[in-house]
Amino acid sequence: MNILVTGGLGFIGSHTVVELIKNNHTVIIADNLVNSKLEVLDKLHQITGIKPTFYQIDVTDADQTERVFTDHQIDGVIHFAGLKAVGESVAKPLEYYYNNLVSTMVLSRLCLKYGVGKFVFSSSATVYGENEVPFVETMTLLPTTNPYGETKKISERILEDTSRANPGFSVNLLRYFNPVGAHESGLIGEDPNGIPNNLMPFVTKVAKGEMPRLSVFGDDYPTVDGTGVRDYIHVVDLAEGHVAAIEKMGEGVSVYNLGTGKGTSVLELVNAFIEVNGVDVPYKIVGRRAGDIAEFYADASKAERELGWKAKRGIREMVRDAWGFEKNNM
Ligand code: NAD
Ligand code: UDP
Repeated sequence: MNILVTGGLGFIGSHTVVELIKNNHTVIIADNLVNSKLEVLDKLHQITGIKPTFYQIDVTDADQTERVFTDHQIDGVIHFAGLKAVGESVAKPLEYYYNNLVSTMVLSRLCLKYGVGKFVFSSSATVYGENEVPFVETMTLLPTTNPYGETKKISERILEDTSRANPGFSVNLLRYFNPVGAHESGLIGEDPNGIPNNLMPFVTKVAKGEMPRLSVFGDDYPTVDGTGVRDYIHVVDLAEGHVAAIEKMGEGVSVYNLGTGKGTSVLELVNAFIEVNGVDVPYKIVGRRAGDIAEFYADASKAERELGWKAKRGIREMVRDAWGFEKNNM
């Protein structure tokens, strides 16, 4: 298939491009580089031997984006492009609503206009809010605490309504849990600008000596060791989930959790990082972070049943590959 990957130079998008090419798809990337670097395109070439067609465009711009649809016969869209920093979304709500919602609407409209019937969307476990664990696709979604989470909920709703009104337009909504790790080549990985917000990129910066220590946000949660528990998923497993989702598209809208189904605490992850990589990660327990949930992980059985996809890589591979990428970029 000819697949348009928006945000294809970003963290999850770039790994998905590799897996799509491995599975003989032709990839067209659209990215405005707001949170990625052009050199990722060369890295994709190095890994796959193929340089995907690249459009440096903003996918909220309908005219620029339409050019991609007139230049190519697109069979499916995987829409990763979006702003994703939770804290920043509280400070800049309009930027987040505009970018994340308008991009989804522009792309859906173009799919209808050009008869593109397959759309895969990057949603997030954050849409569940503070639900019972494990999170299951059929749960009623509870309020989220920030504009970022709302952009995911509203995008899901826009795509559901659009698909319902246009039966040829099929949508897979993928709710990711916590993507970490990197490609085993060490060439692509997570490379956030500035001080990282998420746990794994912070841990790699501390291991590298760029930050003095990790602050562990709370050790008094009702969890295995008091620290927060999340369902970390290797980014290559996640990328493989996208190949399955675009290849096994059903009718209408389907929702899938992409996680491992297994929870890991902050201290379990940090200790695995230290042990597997043989490096020190100094840390200090501090107070809880506002808006954090104690524990969540996926019920990942639906994706296995319907897409034939299951995460294969464990925490040891995740910490090894996260560090492999960081070391390669010292
Ligand atoms: P990322 O920031 O690394 O990648 C997003 C890419 O989209 C970047 O390359 C950026 O330059 C591009 N982009 C943003 N707005 C654009 C626009 N208007 N036009 C063109 N390009 C644009 O983020 P990621 O971690 O790879 O996340 C990909 C998607 O998955 C996002 O939608 C994110 O919200 C979602 N998601 C991420 C996580 C996570 O923890 N990483 C979890 C759940 C969901
Ligand atoms: N966390 C932490 N220190 C950090 C960053 C995160 O202790 O510097 C904890 C956080 O409280 C949560 C877990 O690590 O329990 C995962 O946080 P992250 O921001 O990566 O993901 P999210 O909370 O958005 O699922």
